[in-house]
Parts: sequence; C-alpha cells; structure tokens
Amino acid sequence: MTSRPLALVTGASRGIGAATARALAPTHDLLLDGRDAVALETLAGELPGASAWPVDLTDDGSVVAAVTALGIERLDVLVHSAGVGLLGTVAETSPETWRRQFDVNVVAVASLTRILLPALRAARGDVVLVNSGAGYTARPGWGSYAASKFALRAFGDALRAEEPDLRVTSVHPGRVDTEMQQAVVAHEGGEYDGSTYLRPGSVAAAIVGAVQATPEALVQEIVLRPR
Ligand code: NAP
Repeated sequence: MTSRPLALVTGASRGIGAATARALAPTHDLLLDGRDAVALETLAGELPGASAWPVDLTDDGSVVAAVTALGIERLDVLVHSAGVGLLGTVAETSPETWRRQFDVNVVAVASLTRILLPALRAARGDVVLVNSGAGYTARPGWGSYAASKFALRAFGDALRAEEPDLRVTSVHPGRVDTEMQQAVVAHEGGEYDGSTYLRPGSVAAAIVGAVQATPEALVQEIVLRPR
C-alpha cells in the first residue's frame, strides 16, 4: 500500500489554515502548526492522518528543533497560512509593530521554507503562500501589513525562480470571515457581517485546486474576492 502525500499547514489552529487542513485531509497526511496546542490536538483528532505540530514560528531555535524531530525526507505540500494583521497608519505604527508584522508574515515563512527545502525538493513539492489583496495594494492604515505582504510576494517570486522543481503559489484573498477579520473590522470601527466576506473553506478550496493541478501545470497566483 502506498502512503499518502504529506502536507504541513501553518496557522492551522483556526481560520484559513484550519479550513485548509480540513480540505486536504481526505487526500493528505497532515502536520498542523500553530501555537495553540489544544486547538491543534482537537483538529488533529478529527482528521485521519493528522498530527499536531505546535511551534511558534518566530522562535528560530524551536523551529529547527521541531523540524529535526520530525525527521522527514519528503514533504509534498507546505501551506503558509500563519500570519498577523496589525493595522495602523504610518504615524501610529511603532518599530515593534513593524518588526512583529515582518517577523511572522515574512521572516518566519522564509525561514521555515529554507529548513524544509531538502524535503520539498525530494518531493517536487508545492509551497502555498497565503498572501492578501494587500500584497498588491497598500491602503491608508494598512502600511506595515501591506508592506509585509508585498515582501511575501517578492519572496514567492524569488523562490519560484530559484527552485524550478517546486510549485510556488501565491494566494490573494479579499476579506475572509475569521478572527483576524473580526479584529480588522473592530479596528476600523465598522459593523461585522461575516456573511459578506469569503468563507475560510472557499480559500481552502482554491488552495486544494492549486495543489491538485496536473503535474505539468503551475497555478502561480490566485486572486479571490467575495462576489
Ligand atoms: P487568524 O484566524 O487570525 O489565524 C492566524 C493563524 O496564524 C492562527 O492559526 C495562529 O495560530 C497562527 N499564528 C500567528 N502567529 C503565529 C506564530 N508566531 N507561530 C505559529 N502560528 C502563528 O487569521 P486568518 O484570517 O486565518 O489568516 C490566515 C492568513 O490569511 C494570514 O496570513 C492572513 O494575513 C491572510 N489573510 C487573511 C484575510 C482575512 O480577511 N482573514 C484576508 C487576506 C489574507 P496560534 O494563535 O495558535 O499561534
């Protein structure tokens, strides 16, 4: 019996990452990353072939130790969904906020990808970067978040060019009904109506579509908006 392909999903404790794990579970064994170990264990318990892999991705030493402990030689899919959305005008945004935003949204992504490159190369794997509409456009009050997502798009472009055996997909959703979006709307001072936003499962379905593309095809970018 052949074993199923292996996918590692970051930010799997909730939101888009959890939905992506659910969507990949019928076809993939799963490693579920996040910091909330209880949420990860609960989700892993619902999905056959899934294991919690609780790691703070901004803690370099823990990431190296956790990847080493996995001892995997092949990784078929790496979905980077972990992220923070810290809003504020340029006038309001402290150096700490700039650093935190880049640390989670860019540096942690680059670092985890780098450590897993041998396993990804061995599988000719997929790297999916959950970016944002803010990866193309910086609106007022979104400067440091958009800058981090522009940087994430540049990272993806460089990785795709450098590692032609990998498929690197950049996913750019509009507003999605998650805890992050609730915090965004609270910051903006608007009424939250999740029914007007994308569902996390809709972003997950687009990610699965990219991962399941025929082998010679690369879904390079996905832009997804609520209708
Ligand atoms: P969310 O509900 O706030 O979930 C964020 C996830 O990131 C959580 O699972 C969280 O896990 C994880 N995370 C944060 N910091 C981490 C760290 N240091 N180490 C490990 N995991 C960490 O957010 P979401 O809405 O699903 O967003 C997922 C991605 O989509 C983000 O990259 C976001 O920028 C992007 N996006 C979201 C929207 C939207 O409207 N929601 C739109 C466009 C793009 P723990 O709390 O367990 O650590």
